[in-house]
Amino acid sequence: MMNVPEMFGSLVFNDRTMKERLPKDTYKALHKTIENGKSLDPTVANIVANAMKDWAIEKGVTHYTHWFQPMTGITAEKHDSFISPVDDANIIMEFSGKELIKGEPDASSFPSGGLRATFEARGYTAWDPTSYAFIKGDTLCIPTAFCSFGGEALDKKTPLLRSMEVITKQTKRILKLFGDEETKMVKTTVGPEQEYFLIDKDVYEKRPDLVFSGRTLFGAKPPKGQELDDHYFGTIKPRVSAYMRELDNELWKLGIFAKTEHNEVAPAQHELAPIFSTTNIATDHNQLTMEMMKKVATRHGLVCLLHEKPFESINGSGKHNNWSLSTNTGKNLLEPGDTPHQNAQFLTFLCAVIQAVDEYQDMLRASVASAGNDHRLGGNEAPPAIVSIFLGEELTEILESIEKNEHYDSKEQSIMRIGVHTMPKFPRDTTDRNRTSPFAFTGNKFEFRMLGSSHSISGPNIVINTAVAEILSRYADYLETTPGDFNDNLHNLIRKTIKEHKRIIFNGNGYDNSWVEEAEKRGLLNLKATPESIGAFVNPKNIELFTKHKVFTEAEMKARFEIHLQSYNKIINIEALTMLDMSKMQILPAVIEYSKEISDTINSKRAVNSKINTTAEEKLLEKISDLTAKLYEDIEVLQENVNNAESFNDVEKLAFFSKDNILVSMNNLRKTADMLETITDKKYWPFPSTGDIIFSIK
Ligand code: ADP
Ligand code: MG
Repeated sequence: MMNVPEMFGSLVFNDRTMKERLPKDTYKALHKTIENGKSLDPTVANIVANAMKDWAIEKGVTHYTHWFQPMTGITAEKHDSFISPVDDANIIMEFSGKELIKGEPDASSFPSGGLRATFEARGYTAWDPTSYAFIKGDTLCIPTAFCSFGGEALDKKTPLLRSMEVITKQTKRILKLFGDEETKMVKTTVGPEQEYFLIDKDVYEKRPDLVFSGRTLFGAKPPKGQELDDHYFGTIKPRVSAYMRELDNELWKLGIFAKTEHNEVAPAQHELAPIFSTTNIATDHNQLTMEMMKKVATRHGLVCLLHEKPFESINGSGKHNNWSLSTNTGKNLLEPGDTPHQNAQFLTFLCAVIQAVDEYQDMLRASVASAGNDHRLGGNEAPPAIVSIFLGEELTEILESIEKNEHYDSKEQSIMRIGVHTMPKFPRDTTDRNRTSPFAFTGNKFEFRMLGSSHSISGPNIVINTAVAEILSRYADYLETTPGDFNDNLHNLIRKTIKEHKRIIFNGNGYDNSWVEEAEKRGLLNLKATPESIGAFVNPKNIELFTKHKVFTEAEMKARFEIHLQSYNKIINIEALTMLDMSKMQILPAVIEYSKEISDTINSKRAVNSKINTTAEEKLLEKISDLTAKLYEDIEVLQENVNNAESFNDVEKLAFFSKDNILVSMNNLRKTADMLETITDKKYWPFPSTGDIIFSIK
């Protein structure tokens, strides 16, 4: 039998291991560094590095790497071995404090959006000691931030850590106003629920589109998809449950709290939810989880698809970013309380989130924009591209009564005053009914549901943290300097916030077309796709936000604007080229061959008897021939658009061209090919059908 408690975190140089292996003084010094975010003393670093190395070597490790998250969305590592020559023939295994704290990977191949060109050629990585080192295979991985020599963030961790610092600072100011002097640390907590598809590896390998782009670029709607809803929470197939078991084990060894795994709505779709943790750790863990999902799949003859929309006619995959704020004493600041005082504090944080989401809806939208996610958002399976907040009827009514200075409850004698009255209790389980909302309050946390399944959760959390911190800082400025009774001031502040920002609250059905109209009336943004969303990174209002709090410099934001658009353009280019290849070299020859078989049949039938009925063959042949001609035309149009794309120098213009021209001609080509698929003899069709893929695990 496996001992789970013993196995849990066995591949992590965690607090328990540090306590065991480090001299008391060193452990204390390191602990202080971790808690206060101070830099590590070199002598301490040397001792830690040595202990880490010994621990790793005992577990069969030979190499180490600075593990980091460049702006591409994946993780990067460069492996160095521990060996160090003592003379011509002998080596020792060495790992110094310097090597632990700082690395200098040759970073020229990572995207910098022009940052390195303007500053320094190389980048460096620096250990984030709040995220523990861990072992992957024969390598000790040290979670690091990745910066240019000028200090510009070239990764997703650096700005995330900065945003966490900012929200900590502003939250503490608010807590102090409520008389809380004891809270030393405030953390944002995140639990990302991860959706994914599992398919058979043999089937996968027969689909160049899946191999090159992660999604099927062709494929007619299968006769059976998710109509029966018989997959959701259904029995898990033995092959899948074996996979889930092993995945859990691998994640537990890495100290990742994988908790629930179940089937999702679509066939072959599943979900993994971890127990929440501090944001930077949750981010590292989610990256590792995605990596492990793929790795473990191959051991089971499976492939794990993390693309947002692997199949056109089937629900896509997202990621739900559950977010809250909590103190070092374990108090969740988004938990409604039992006393008027606690409620006043709760309402303050609640309103700050409401205002932040309203004012920075464009940035939130931009943080989840990608070529893959464009296929989901706004489709009737994922939240709309319009950002809004679900609060539930009860909480919304409470806010309305505060705004209007009215009785919330007719039984209540006096008007609800913040700081004087207790909020009426609302049943917890009624708060999570609405699955169509992009940003839902679920009782004691907010769930941001617009993320794509393949995204790093870093970007959205940078935006949430910084935007909420900004609003909290404005609240604190106001409350600290306004004379008069604190509760009166707070009451006015909250009323004003509700009045000005209630437009972002929407409890109705987000999939409904009427919401699009209603949202427009309210002046909410509806940024349908990536090209129009990414501009938020260079919007002066947002540059002001991030530079004020030193989360991004202006150059860093411009770099991100460039990189997101570049990556969008590259993805569409790869998809278009893959479609051209598949249609020219596989689909076209296949349908031509099939039509030859039909015409041969017609001829041979006629040779037997010229009066024999060949109507069916002729009609089919005509249909196929027409569609084949159309296919040829569609290929030519797409090819021309792909060629034209080469002449663009401006990334943003190319992004719009990709969306309005290349994607449109890709869709046309697909439509024609999919029609052909439904009338072509299966033995001629060059790849497995959508049905074959989604039901590939028996
Ligand atoms: P369910 O929706 O199944 O009842 P929960 O709402 O408890 O489950 O949790 C869904 C996800 O939200 C999980 O990943 C969980 O860890 C996370 N979560 C729960 N509480 C918090 C919190 N305070 N901060 C961040 N994430 C949380
Ligand atoms: Mg959820």
